[in-house]
Amino acid sequence: MEGARAALRRRFPDLHCLRCGADSFLVRMWQDGSLVPGVASDADNRVVEIICENCGFQEKHVVRLLETPATG
Ligand SMILES: [Zn+2]
Repeated sequence: MEGARAALRRRFPDLHCLRCGADSFLVRMWQDGSLVPGVASDADNRVVEIICENCGFQEKHVVRLLETPATG
């Protein structure tokens, strides 16, 4: 959880809700627990969800990609 929050702050230092512009959020993790054995990759597929405390808009990011430095 802390790693995901740090990655969010690093990637989006001025984070605001895409719908209403508020800047306060609730955060929760979606664990990588829904993949079928034999098909699942070894990749970290955890997802972090941020929920706007003002309007309830939900936004999700795959943590592995969130932590990858931006290119281009
Ligand atoms: Zn909002």
